[in-house]
Amino acid sequence: TLILGIESSCDETSASVIKNGRYILSNVISSQIDLHKKYGGVVPEIASRKHVELIMPVINQALEEAGVTLNDIDAIGVTYGPGLVGALLVGLTAAKAIAFTTGKPLVGVHHIEGHIAANYLQYPELEPPFVCLVASGGHSHIVLVESYDKFEILGQTRDDAAGEAFDKISRAIGLGYPGGPLIDKYAAQGNSKAVKFPRVQFEDGSLDFSFSGLKTAVLNHLNRLEQTGEQVNIPDVAASFQQAVVDVLVKNTIRAAKQKGVDKIALAGGVAANSQLRSEMKSQAKKQGIEVLYPDLILCTDNAAMIGCAAYFEYKNGKRSGMDLNAVPGLKLG
Ligand code: ATP
Ligand code: MG
Ligand code: FE
Repeated sequence: TLILGIESSCDETSASVIKNGRYILSNVISSQIDLHKKYGGVVPEIASRKHVELIMPVINQALEEAGVTLNDIDAIGVTYGPGLVGALLVGLTAAKAIAFTTGKPLVGVHHIEGHIAANYLQYPELEPPFVCLVASGGHSHIVLVESYDKFEILGQTRDDAAGEAFDKISRAIGLGYPGGPLIDKYAAQGNSKAVKFPRVQFEDGSLDFSFSGLKTAVLNHLNRLEQTGEQVNIPDVAASFQQAVVDVLVKNTIRAAKQKGVDKIALAGGVAANSQLRSEMKSQAKKQGIEVLYPDLILCTDNAAMIGCAAYFEYKNGKRSGMDLNAVPGLKLG
């Protein structure tokens, strides 16, 4: 079974061809990072226009690199939410047009289910159940993946997403956009104990996260230095901030796995690319007899391979979307 996957929810225009839900025949990703860098974040209108320009060339390249034509494709999987509405509509419209003209089935995919599915590509033998930490630009969810299409949210952020916190702090310390990879890099040279930042833990045994207090604490620290005329030690602030984020992500995710009695934790979303999160989740989980899985860096951030993969499992379960499928910017999981 061959799926053509299409993703355009934010600032990556991407198309893929996925075989049997497990093998990547192609995964073309055109990132707009350089385009949005000078604005310090993604500008929705610019993103939409760039998607319009790139969507067909990217789809054609994905087919070409896979060595297939539209005739060989069994279904078209496309992200329909959550994301930026104007950006989503570009991929969705292209997918519908292809489905309509070829008569092939259309399968709408939840972007976050796509992030989770990236693990099925990385580990062709992986099967549910497992606990997945989805940490990205817009989400920080601990999800029990009960089956390929059944998800239970065990915890989530009550304010900022983890990736959003990385991006905001990066901007505040002058490193720029996108924040995650830059903070990751500078943190490696800093002392994570240099500055004491808060780790929010809710008292009711909840597995939820909160990152807005941490963000404020970092901003307060920067303001204090500015007032006293002291120099900001960027690696130290980056390392101390990153440690605070990683500590709570690791702690809550392992607690969730233990509560549910599962022996596998998967990481997903852009923040899953974080080197410290990967290594600390692995070493802490190991002590509890829990295995940690994470996709290659390129499968952590937005890509169409993960969308094609998620679409495959939905297609197998009989899901078909109609031509009335619309973009849902605030689509919820589960
Ligand atoms: P969502 O998936 O919630 O809709 P998104 O698609 O914008 O949001 P992703 O593409 O999954 O998010 O991830 C981008 C986020 O990941 C950004 O916030 C970025 O800073 C963060 N990120 C990327 N690499 C790293 C890293 N090495 N360390 C920490 N964060 C990272
Ligand atoms: Mg992106
Ligand atoms: Fe994403």
